[in-house]
Amino acid sequence: MKIDELAALVRTIPDFPKPGIQFRDVTTLLADPHGFADLVGRMAQLAQPLDPQFIVGIEARGFILGAALAHAMGAGFVPVRKAGKLPGRTVGIDYVLEYGTDRLELHEGQIPAGARVVLVDDLIATGGTALAAAQLLREQGAIVLMALFAVDLPDLGGMAALEADGVAASAIIA
Ligand code: 5GP
Repeated sequence: MKIDELAALVRTIPDFPKPGIQFRDVTTLLADPHGFADLVGRMAQLAQPLDPQFIVGIEARGFILGAALAHAMGAGFVPVRKAGKLPGRTVGIDYVLEYGTDRLELHEGQIPAGARVVLVDDLIATGGTALAAAQLLREQGAIVLMALFAVDLPDLGGMAALEADGVAASAIIA
């Protein structure tokens, strides 16, 4: 599949979740069997040479792509979730949003020190979520090889923010 055909499978929903936001909806791409396979194949091509032990997916759409990618590559999958969702003991990080703060958590001990990980989410906007997840992983002693996204919103500067923090970042659709 050509990249512009793949990009066309992501639809834009105006005024979601609030007025003025143009929400990029990846469910239309996921529902297309060729598009889903093509996207995961492109992500695997970028991640495979880095030889990750774990794919870490960010709640919630990062779980879908991260799990598919982990399975395709023979790596383990580990979820990073919003506060209070994981059943076991957790480690976490608080981070600042436009309005207020949020918290991401990881099961304690699931990512051992020195582990080679690739971080995955569906979309990067400002980069705040991915930066927090990368920081949490580094605090566990993990080596964050790359942060990988299906969609980048380049105007919001998230990829540049990650690179400035020393996290290599790639997106399939910009
Ligand atoms: P950031 O922290 O980079 O500003 O926002 C990225 C996070 O918010 C990701 O977890 C992503 O799933 C979600 N997000 C923000 N805007 C959009 C959007 O337009 N479409 C989708 N699918 N997710 C978004």
